[in-house]
Amino acid sequence: MSDNVDTTTIVNKEGAAPATCEAGTTVGLEDAVVQARGVERDYGQGDALVRALAGVDIDLQRGAYTAIMGPSGSGKSTLMHILAGLDKPTAGNVWIDGLEITTLKERALTQLRRDKIGFIFQTFNLLPTLTAAENITLPLTIAGRKGDAAWVDELIKTVGLGDRLTHKPSELSGGQQQRVAVARALASRPAVLFADEPTGNLDSRTGEEVLQLLRQSRDKLGQTIVMVTHDAHAATYADRIVFLKDGAIAHDCGRLGRDDVYEVIKSLEDA
Ligand code: ADP
Ligand code: MG
Repeated sequence: MSDNVDTTTIVNKEGAAPATCEAGTTVGLEDAVVQARGVERDYGQGDALVRALAGVDIDLQRGAYTAIMGPSGSGKSTLMHILAGLDKPTAGNVWIDGLEITTLKERALTQLRRDKIGFIFQTFNLLPTLTAAENITLPLTIAGRKGDAAWVDELIKTVGLGDRLTHKPSELSGGQQQRVAVARALASRPAVLFADEPTGNLDSRTGEEVLQLLRQSRDKLGQTIVMVTHDAHAATYADRIVFLKDGAIAHDCGRLGRDDVYEVIKSLEDA
């Protein structure tokens, strides 16, 4: 993905997507850390059938920061859960780091999630009785691994919590708690970091801290990130924005400014 994508594209009057939006890019197994082909997900049956995903093909390039946007009910959470091995598609295939995951048994999936995937949730999900530092190393402790001490130190520096490391979550602001959650998610050096509305419970200033931290983890550490968000400003931090509508990819864009993001959202809602 090019760093010098033109972000000053102008949306035309019909509300079509900006010029940096194209059909999906196929990068090939070598460069893709996550691939999905023909992914469908149905809920319910008969009259109650809901087609949450209607055939999604996507390649997530290693080291890229991708945002997933779209109207409520467009399938964002369903897609993220399937790409992360938390849910199985009705049809189609998903590869994480070259391993096809849709046929894996629960035990292998648990291990894959532990070794390859980091999660950040809207609600932080820190353990209240542990300090910030203990929360960060918890996944390594559970896995019975010491982890890479130098790496954990670097993470702690990047997260910038300083003297707050010995504090419990209740003694930290929302933004600080989410920064701890980011460090925790990165501690095991996951192949992919999935974030579901990571700034959804934060005010704009603390949300900004978390967005900058995610961006840094991409720029300094090469972390691959997939972030579901409603927030057009949050999406401007991503290298790529994938817009879903009715369970399918409607637009697949490079970096966009906030006004362009709004235009695409509006065109999806009007259509
Ligand atoms: P988004 O995250 O974009 O709001 P979701 O992926 O949560 O969308 O949902 C996509 C569609 O699938 C919606 O129509 C939703 O109502 C439906 N859906 C999601 N989860 C379930 C479920 N467990 N049972 C039935 N329908 C569901
Ligand atoms: Mg959702």
